[in-house]
Amino acid sequence: MRPAAPFTRRSLVAGLVAAPAVLAFGRARAGGAYAFPLGVASGDPAPDGFVIWTRLAVDPFAADGQGGLSAPVPVRWEIAADEGFRRIVAAGEATAVAEEAHAVHVEAAGLRPGRPYWYRFTALGQQSPAGLSRTTPAPNAQADRLRLAVASCSHWERGYFTAYGHMADEGPDLTLFLGDYIYEYSLGPDRADQKVRAYGLEEATTLAGYRNRYALHRTDAHLQRLHAAAPCLAVWDDHEVQDDYSGIWSKVAATSPRDFLRRRAAAYQAFYEAMPIRRTRLSAAGEMPIYKQVRYGALAEFFMLDGRQYRSRQPCPGGPEGGKGRIVADGACPDRLDPSRTFLGFDQERWLYDGLARASAQWNILGQDLVMAGLRFARPGGDDTYWTDTWDGFPAARDRLTRALSQLKPRNPVVLSGDYHSFWTNDVKLDSRDPGSPTVATEFVGTSITSTGPSHEALSAVMPDNPQVKFFDSRSRGYMTLDITAAGIDARYQAISDVRDPKASVATLRRWAVENGKAGATPA
Ligand code: FE
Ligand code: CA
Repeated sequence: MRPAAPFTRRSLVAGLVAAPAVLAFGRARAGGAYAFPLGVASGDPAPDGFVIWTRLAVDPFAADGQGGLSAPVPVRWEIAADEGFRRIVAAGEATAVAEEAHAVHVEAAGLRPGRPYWYRFTALGQQSPAGLSRTTPAPNAQADRLRLAVASCSHWERGYFTAYGHMADEGPDLTLFLGDYIYEYSLGPDRADQKVRAYGLEEATTLAGYRNRYALHRTDAHLQRLHAAAPCLAVWDDHEVQDDYSGIWSKVAATSPRDFLRRRAAAYQAFYEAMPIRRTRLSAAGEMPIYKQVRYGALAEFFMLDGRQYRSRQPCPGGPEGGKGRIVADGACPDRLDPSRTFLGFDQERWLYDGLARASAQWNILGQDLVMAGLRFARPGGDDTYWTDTWDGFPAARDRLTRALSQLKPRNPVVLSGDYHSFWTNDVKLDSRDPGSPTVATEFVGTSITSTGPSHEALSAVMPDNPQVKFFDSRSRGYMTLDITAAGIDARYQAISDVRDPKASVATLRRWAVENGKAGATPA
C-alpha cells in the first residue's frame, strides 16, 4: 500500500479539488473505499467541447489490473460554467466497465468556444475532485494568447514529480505530453542507489501491468493537480510500451513481431484507458491511431505526431538484446539511408502533408516524441555516426518532411520534442547534412520531468560539429512553457532545483524568442 502524497493546494487551482475526498484515499469509508484515487483529467479540446476522464478504482494496484472493481458502475458527470457548480451546462450518465478497467471518457459537446469549464464525476455514492478544462477558441477567432506547458519523460523511480506541480502553477491553457509518460521497466539491483522511490511493480508487459503503472503515476498529487488544471494533448514514445521498440519490432531481436504485437496492443489499450483522449480502438492489425490535428483559433494549429507505431525497423539494430537503436556509421549501415524506410508511416506522412498544405493558423506546432534537427557525431578520419532511435535513424523520412515544410510553407512551423532528457534549441534545416541550408522550422526539446539526462560533457563536446543546435543542456530536470501570441513565442526552459527533493523549487534556465515570420529562436 502506498500512502497518498500530502496534497498541496496552490493559488491558481485552489478550490478545484475536493480535498476531503482526496484525504480519504486509502481509508475505508462508509459505503466503501474511495473510488477516485486516480483523480480526473481532460483533453483533446475543440471549440465545442473536450474529453473528461476519470478511472474508478477502490484498490488501484490490484494484481489483476481491475482496480478492485468488476461489475459495471454508473457514473454521473457534470460540466459547469462556474467553479462552484451553480450553473451546470452539461450532464449525463456513463457506465464504467471492467473491459476498460472502469475508465470513463466522456466526449462533451455543445459548449461555447474559448472559455473555461469545470467538471466532476459522481459514482458509488462519492464525488470526484473537480477539474478545470477549456474549449478552444472558434476556428477563426483571434485568440490573443496561448500558454502551453510541455512535459516528457517521467520515470517514477528517478524522483518526485514536482515539475508537474510547477507546471500546474503556471496556469497553462493547454498541456502537452510528448512521451515516456510511464516507463515500463524498473531500475535493477545494480542501480538501486539511483532509486528515489520504487515502482514496487513488476516490469509492465501485460494489460494488468501497464494499467497499474498508469494507476501508480496518477496517485501522484502533483500529476493529479496538473491534469485537473488544464486540458492536454498526449502522444506516446517508446517507454509506454518498451525501450527503443520500433513499429512492430521489439528491442529484443528474438521476439517475433507477432509476439511483440500482443504486448504492444496491451500497452496501447492501457494508454487509451489512462489518457483523456477521444475514442480510439485497436484495429484487427493491432494498430491504434493517436495522431491528431487540433486547432486553437487562428493563433495555432497542433499536429500531434506518433513517432513509434508506424516506423520501419531500427536500421542495423543492435544492443545487448539485438533490436535497439545504436550509434552507427554510414559506411557500416547503408540501410539507414534507404528511402523506403519511414518514421511516421506513409499514411501519417500523407495526413501530415495534407494538413500542412491547408494550414492557415499563425503558428503550426508539431508536437512529437523525438529530436528532429539531428545530431552528427563526427569522427576524424572516419564516417560520421548517428544515433538511430531518433529521426537520425530515418533521414529520408526527415528529408520528405523538411521538403514538405519548405514547399508547402505553413506559417511559422515549430517542433516540440521530448525523449532526450535534455533541453535543446535547434534550427531544423532543409538538408540536415548542410548547415548552410535554409532553416525550415524552430525546434525546442524539453528536458525530462525526472528521467536522468545523457552526459552533458560528452554531448557538449560534439556540439561544435552541430551548428544547428544553438543550445544544449542535459543537467536539469523540468519542463517548457511557451507563451504564444500572433507576434511571437516566448519560450522558457523551467528547471527544478533537485529531483530528489519533494519540495523542489523551479527557476528559468533559459528564455527564447521566436518572431513571427522568422524560423529559428534567439536568446531572450
Ligand atoms: Fe525518456
Ligand atoms: Ca524515449
